[in-house]
Amino acid sequence: MKSYSIGVIGIGKITQDQHLPVIAKDARFKLAGLVSQRGLQQPGVPTFRTPAELYAALPDLDAVAICTPPSVRHAIAREALDAGKNVLLEKPPTPTMAEFHDLVAYGAARGKVIFATWHSQYNAAVDEAKKRLSGQKIRSLHIEWKEDVRRWHPGQGWLWQPGGFGVFDPGMNALSILTKLVPEAIFPRAARLFVPENCGAPIAADLELTTASGLEITAAFDFRESGPQRWNIDLETDAGAMKLSAGGGFLTLGEEPVPPDAGSLDAEYETIYRRFGGLVPRAASDVDTRPLQLVSDIFLVAKQIPVESFEDPLPG
Ligand code: NAP
Repeated sequence: MKSYSIGVIGIGKITQDQHLPVIAKDARFKLAGLVSQRGLQQPGVPTFRTPAELYAALPDLDAVAICTPPSVRHAIAREALDAGKNVLLEKPPTPTMAEFHDLVAYGAARGKVIFATWHSQYNAAVDEAKKRLSGQKIRSLHIEWKEDVRRWHPGQGWLWQPGGFGVFDPGMNALSILTKLVPEAIFPRAARLFVPENCGAPIAADLELTTASGLEITAAFDFRESGPQRWNIDLETDAGAMKLSAGGGFLTLGEEPVPPDAGSLDAEYETIYRRFGGLVPRAASDVDTRPLQLVSDIFLVAKQIPVESFEDPLPG
């Protein structure tokens, strides 16, 4: 099996929790360099302050994973493509659809891979749910995505800037599962975004969505949940109730837990890197635009409602 050398750009929470440990155990990839503004180190791997320094020092590098906040991803991805690298993008690929389309075209023109990952889509339980929904009619679908931002995103000031997505940063994970489960176009009908007076992005949201066939979809996102954390999608189908819980990690039919197929038990990021390792040799991109399109459309129809200021107790 060929092994591709990869650099990781932005050594924050998700890089440390997932990308580095998963790359370390995937024979398809060899971690060749890190780019860290803060100069974070990994034993035996060189760290560079900028992507330009990485590309100059390691001209044969095959790929990069871009794990920065979304607002800077477009420029970093273009620079990577200019340097001839294949590109894995953390979610969301970019803050806007125009930047996303531009990257897709830019990558295609250079014959390089763009892999826009939506990690929640790579849960085995989500695949199992999709399989079981085949040929079934979904009657209604409700998303409840409620978590404590102080616990999961301490000090991440970028979340609260315009283009940082606020509660949609986790909420779009639910929407990425939704677009995977529901193949037809999804239209936002109404949305209320609750925006703290001192922030540029919502702390909570209530959504009403629909499809041409009349499926009613509702969603409640909240970053202020101090009780039990909830990442659930409840569906009513012709065949009864279905529930995805734990962010898409578990599937229940009625009261019965459903184990996923034994062949698909890898976790989200293991599956992501296995897929990237399959895309690179074929020079094939994977750019699912639907989750970002849906978020973008929701922001277009939304009513913005000011709520009390949010103070992050840790430095941003
Ligand atoms: P984070 O902890 O804030 O890490 C982002 C890192 O990017 C920073 O630590 C910094 O690392 C680098 N960075 C910050 N500002 C930058 C800038 N202006 N230009 C270049 N690099 C910059 O955020 P995160 O939670 O890892 O999230 C990063 C992305 O992953 C987000 O899009 C998020 O939606 C996605 N994600 C997060 C999670 C999660 O559980 N947190 C899960 C899945 C996906 P250096 O100082 O090392 O450069």
